[in-house]
Amino acid sequence: MARPMGALGVVPTALLRLLITALLKEVGDPRYDRPHDLAPDYDFIIVGGGSAGSVMAARLAEEAGWRVLLLEAGAKQPVESRVPALNFLLFQGDADWNYRSQPQQHALKAYKDNSIPYPRGRGAGGSSSINSMVYVRGNRRDYDQWEQLGNPGWGYNSVLKYFKKSEDFRGGVSQESDGYHGFGGPQTVENKKWNSTVAEAFVKAGQQLGYPEVDPNGPEQIGFSIIDITARNGRRWSTGDGYLRPAALKNTNLHVVLKAHVLKILFDEDKNAVGVSFEQKGKVRTVKALKEVVLSAGAIGSPQLLLLSGVGPADHLHQHGIPVVADVAGVGQNLQDHPAVGGLVWTVGNRPSSVNFLSFFNPKNIHDFIHHAKGFQNNTWTDHITKPN
Ligand SMILES: Cc1cc2nc3c(=O)[nH]c(=O)nc-3n(C[C@H](O)[C@H](O)[C@H](O)COP(=O)(O)OP(=O)(O)OC[C@H]3O[C@@H](n4cnc5c(N)ncnc54)[C@H](O)[C@@H]3O)c2cc1C
Repeated sequence: MARPMGALGVVPTALLRLLITALLKEVGDPRYDRPHDLAPDYDFIIVGGGSAGSVMAARLAEEAGWRVLLLEAGAKQPVESRVPALNFLLFQGDADWNYRSQPQQHALKAYKDNSIPYPRGRGAGGSSSINSMVYVRGNRRDYDQWEQLGNPGWGYNSVLKYFKKSEDFRGGVSQESDGYHGFGGPQTVENKKWNSTVAEAFVKAGQQLGYPEVDPNGPEQIGFSIIDITARNGRRWSTGDGYLRPAALKNTNLHVVLKAHVLKILFDEDKNAVGVSFEQKGKVRTVKALKEVVLSAGAIGSPQLLLLSGVGPADHLHQHGIPVVADVAGVGQNLQDHPAVGGLVWTVGNRPSSVNFLSFFNPKNIHDFIHHAKGFQNNTWTDHITKPN
């Protein structure tokens, strides 16, 4: 995804950041960043405080007798991440690892070096703090196939109860999707708040083509729908918000250290993971795990850390002078992702209907967002479009 504004966007972006910071009140993170009272060992060490790591930390810390350490390379969630439409401001900044794709021979020809930025979240909440917030669990058949491939407990009927347990659904539930949503869990999910006349027109057009309006997380997923998003009262609700922060505030047995970059997983002679070494403020420290090291550093960070720790294809490790702990084929390979194209403009009638950057500065939109958690699409560019019948 390319940064949409280029150099001209720098000044407005900085202004917008200031404005949002001034207007939105951040909840404090009193138990984060306490490197000074780091213990020499913990029962569990979690590497990475993103979508998965935040949940792991919160759930493990529910066991009062266990001491849990979470090490996260990035900082706390930036305030502008609260505004769903502003996630692109966070790309190529401190909350992003700033990766770039490999140069492509047959693609990305409009980009310098045939390569594009590849955003990955860095900080409390990880990618759930910078992502596009679309809440869709995936298709039942994928889960069932994973189970059939020899992974008991991954079938859809098994995982559905955990989706429901985690969810705090604040949208309408139709009769068909009754039984597919959870209420009161840590992960708030909303819909319809960010609706626009264009989105409604798409759903209506789908119906005219014979497709039903479906709940994207309900029993039937072929159809059209307004998306569900991971938000609470119109603001982003990352796993850092839903799981990590409340757990760190509540549980004295959970120690969260931010800006702690894990360098290596340490193994004993029997190849058990027994600790990690990490770097913070230029100092390398070692900490031991009495039970387990949980690796939740993301689709790029996790295999990278395994390779740096000597777990991966032996040939590849030799090439980089890394002593082999375990010769495991496939580590660091088979990355799958979906490309995204920004900047599409839909024209409805005679005018473009997509978001214009200046809409962010419209005082009415800012007021509506702060006080009514509403998106600007409801009241600016799409005003002229007739609502579908
Ligand atoms: C721009 C963007 C848009 C997206 N949009 C959507 C969407 O709309 N809907 C959807 O379902 N999914 C979306 N995704 C994908 C989704 O956010 C990710 O699949 C999910 O967050 C991955 O969770 P994770 O826990 O595996 O990794 P992450 O959430 O990325 O967490 C990994 C964490 O580990 C930390 N870490 C990495 N290496 C180290 C290290 N060596 N030491 C310490 N910490 C480390 C990172 O800083 C990070 O915080 C999007 C992703 C991006 C980047």
